[in-house]
Amino acid sequence: MATILVTGGAGYVGAHCCLALARAGHKVVVYDNFSNGHRQFVKWGPLVEGDIRDKARLVAAFAEYKPDAVLHCAALIEVGESVKHPDRFYDNNVTGALVLLDVMREAGVNAFVFSSTCATYGEPQRLPMDETHSQNPVSPYGWTKLMVERASRDMAAAYGLQFAHLRYFNAAGAAPEEGIGERHTPETHAIPLALFTLLGRREGFKIFGQDYETRDGTCLRDYVHVLDLADAHVRAVERLLAGGASLAANLGTGDGVTVRELLDAIARVTGKSVPATPAPRRDGDAPALVADNSLARRELAWTPMRGIDAIIADAWEWHERVEAGTFG
Ligand code: UDP
Repeated sequence: MATILVTGGAGYVGAHCCLALARAGHKVVVYDNFSNGHRQFVKWGPLVEGDIRDKARLVAAFAEYKPDAVLHCAALIEVGESVKHPDRFYDNNVTGALVLLDVMREAGVNAFVFSSTCATYGEPQRLPMDETHSQNPVSPYGWTKLMVERASRDMAAAYGLQFAHLRYFNAAGAAPEEGIGERHTPETHAIPLALFTLLGRREGFKIFGQDYETRDGTCLRDYVHVLDLADAHVRAVERLLAGGASLAANLGTGDGVTVRELLDAIARVTGKSVPATPAPRRDGDAPALVADNSLARRELAWTPMRGIDAIIADAWEWHERVEAGTFG
């Protein structure tokens, strides 16, 4: 059993990672400033309320809990916001990570598992994308994530740091029976927005773009269940703690789903049809993003278990519970 400090542990991916780490027998400590996290999501270990840019607070948390590894999920994540407010993103995501890495070094904590993203690749040059794909982000958000990858890679070369850069494709789904799921404000993601229409929280769903070069003209994405993501994080933490080598790994299923296929799946799973209307392309959307996940399968012995129907079933149950006020 190890002690893992999870920054952003009250957030969407962070909370599911806490659940998975606790199920695997580890002790988790949540470090979160609640800029986007939820207090109800902190249930698998103690909480330190703090900002990753607050060095004194981090030093105190490390002294109190003596973590063996850090899982760094805390970040601003909304791509459109990063275009409008890059200063906030560089400050929070890059400065914050550098402070955290500094504190880790001083405390002699060498295992760093980092929430990264396929947005570090930028425009896809080939599909599926493997980890050797060029990294040339098209948003400030993607750049902040790439800079932290770079900084931690250089620190690993200079001294004993070991890293796992986990590049998520489209995180989706929930653990409704555990009272955790996706709750962003504002919500911009396709699955929650489509489900909101079924709950009467939105008028209709806009399909952004119909003329992409995909099998039905709509954007294709690789949706990966957040519990499968969390499982990969546990494997990455355990690899580093066992002395395994640093790595960067894609976390996606390898299967693409178009927006129209997503809506079909929602109808299949919920028995309800989403009122959808064609809309213009959304700026910055790549036509298709699909992971080559063979490295994670090989190096982490990771197998994503849940397909699009399971993702939607869990997301639907979660949003229904939130709507009814019965989660948590
Ligand atoms: N999308 C859409 N309508 C929406 C939100 C998203 O058609 O209201 C599409 C979007 O263009 C993209 C896909 O759904 O192709 C997934 O979008 P999301 O924002 O969930 O994730 P992204 O891939 O942008 O990170």
